[in-house]
Amino acid sequence: MSESITRIFLVDDDEIDAMSFERALRKSGINYSLKHCKNASEALEEITQVEYDCVFLDYQLPGVDGLMLLKRMKELGVMAPIAVMTSQGDEKIAVEMMKAGAFDYFPKDEVNAESIAKVIRAGLRLNEIQIQKTQAERALKENNNKLNTILESTRAMIFSVDNELRYTAFNTTFKKTIVNLYGNFPELGQPLQDDISRMRDKAILLGCFQKALVGEHINITEEFGDPEQCSNYYDLNFNPIVDDFGKVRGVAIYGQDITERKKAEREILEAKFEAERTAKAKSEFLSNMSHEIRTPMNAIIGLSELLLKEELTPKQLENLKSIKYSADNLLVIINDILDFSKIESGKIEFEEVNFDIVGKIQEIKKTFIFKAEEKGIDLKFNVSDRVPHFLVGDPFRLNQILLNLLSNAVKFTKDGTVSLLVDLVEESEDSAALRFDVIDTGIGIPKDKLASVFESYTQAYTDITRRFGGTGLGLAITRQLVTMQQGEITLDSEMGKGTTFTVRLTFKKGVSEENSIIEDATNELLEKRDFKGMSVLLVEDNIMNQFVAHQVLELWNIKVDFANNGLEAVDMLKDTDYALVLMDLQMPVMSGYEATSFIRDKTNRLRNPEIPIIALTADAFPETKKKVMESGMNDFVTKPLEQTDLYNKIKLHALKPVHV
Ligand code: ATP
Ligand code: MG
Repeated sequence: MSESITRIFLVDDDEIDAMSFERALRKSGINYSLKHCKNASEALEEITQVEYDCVFLDYQLPGVDGLMLLKRMKELGVMAPIAVMTSQGDEKIAVEMMKAGAFDYFPKDEVNAESIAKVIRAGLRLNEIQIQKTQAERALKENNNKLNTILESTRAMIFSVDNELRYTAFNTTFKKTIVNLYGNFPELGQPLQDDISRMRDKAILLGCFQKALVGEHINITEEFGDPEQCSNYYDLNFNPIVDDFGKVRGVAIYGQDITERKKAEREILEAKFEAERTAKAKSEFLSNMSHEIRTPMNAIIGLSELLLKEELTPKQLENLKSIKYSADNLLVIINDILDFSKIESGKIEFEEVNFDIVGKIQEIKKTFIFKAEEKGIDLKFNVSDRVPHFLVGDPFRLNQILLNLLSNAVKFTKDGTVSLLVDLVEESEDSAALRFDVIDTGIGIPKDKLASVFESYTQAYTDITRRFGGTGLGLAITRQLVTMQQGEITLDSEMGKGTTFTVRLTFKKGVSEENSIIEDATNELLEKRDFKGMSVLLVEDNIMNQFVAHQVLELWNIKVDFANNGLEAVDMLKDTDYALVLMDLQMPVMSGYEATSFIRDKTNRLRNPEIPIIALTADAFPETKKKVMESGMNDFVTKPLEQTDLYNKIKLHALKPVHV
């Protein structure tokens, strides 16, 4: 027993009984203090004000029965254990008193030191247990409050069910969600099936519950509500609730409303789609516009070339050269803008064809000979012996890259040398990494402009733009073309000394192709070319283009018939034999592509379904070329017509023996 004093409260109206109680208490060996009250009202007042460790209550008090008093004490929240004493033993009363909250019961004639000590010790133990129980209950309640606060402070819906899928808990968000979606209130203890049965994916949801009930953690995204109106999306987590013995007792579900996120995702997708549509429209517009501009350019350039061959006064010759020069420049600018927008909209594709790099570099050199001579600049081109002659890649784009760099070098150099050096950097069994150095001794680029010259529409010296011309797109396009092929472009420059641009590009190794080398003619030879007796069908809707082509073909003594569109061409090919068809692509009524597939289709019974067809097109992109070849045409000539190219291709296709 503890050293502390046990506070005992005795309620008994009988003075003698009280004395014998105290006597027994004194002998019990318990360290006590005793308070004695003789009637009910006094006792109630005392017990509500002072705390006691054990209460002894006489069953018979004046005017009130012990049961009533006991009940009243319990109602008032008396925590102390209460033992009841009666004059005579009565089982019925004992049961009633125990039911009402008494912890012990004994007849007065059994009051002695021993029995009292026993009762008090039992009472104290009970008291201790009671205190612990109260503390545990309070802690549990606090814990519950905490959990509830957490459950209610989230915007997620949280609920749990037992093994039979009856609700065991849910938060307000869950309740509101169910009410909003289905109009009924979920109730604790009710089966969840009632709510699930209204959902669209009930089989899936029930499956999730079943899996969670065997211990799996499930995560799904579900659409709730009427999809016709506005549905809500939820991320649902199913977690098994496991007891101390590892048995699954139910499932806790955490559901987060992700409708907003879904909406945002959809909006982003729509915006992306819209942006792509706009980019496509822009690129289509540019491609159409370029076609429209190239058509008259074709006429201007073609006719100037023809006029240049006639007898002219020196004044006329000079003016005509200016017209030709400006027209050539304008065409370059149109090509640049078209190229740039194609790159921007990600439309550009790279070819993978076998080509002769040494031949390509020689060709490039030729285009600069005249200009360099005119300016008095030396041209130094060198391809190292280590470079493999035949490579696989996109010669068209390589051409474009080197032309841009070389035309800059020539443009910004007054005297000295412009060099192109090609060397092998690295080689493997099937690939070769090349390095192209374009070196000039020109005006150089200021240090602070080195980084920005690659940006579009940027020129290092805006004040001298007018003198040199250009749009500032050349290097932007060049860099894009290089990096899109996983290459690298760097530059080094010193003011007044010169500039070096270095391009690194890797190609696959190719194979030599002896029979594809097309005869390269000089202008002088061109004049003497003759296709006497050959007759060609020219399919072209634009009268100006018809006129230019006619002039060129006449030079070579070719007889030309005209068709204004694909349909007319097809009609003419039913009755007449031609050596070759020159076919424009975009035409009203029937396009060049449609006409070609009609001609190639043997069931249409044209005179020669295998007649060579050469496409005439204003756009020089590899994509177009690919489409042309796929549609069944044999070759491809770009407008403005380049006479040597057209001559070579007519020769190649029209003079080839035809097997029918
Ligand atoms: P475009 O090529 O579109 O006709 P551009 O030649 O002016 O016009 P870029 O080729 O992009 O445009 O070159 C951008 C600028 O970089 C040039 O305007 C020039 O100031 C500078 N630059 C480029 N190459 C050289 C060079 N070899 N020497 C000196 N400056 C150069
Ligand atoms: Mg340039």
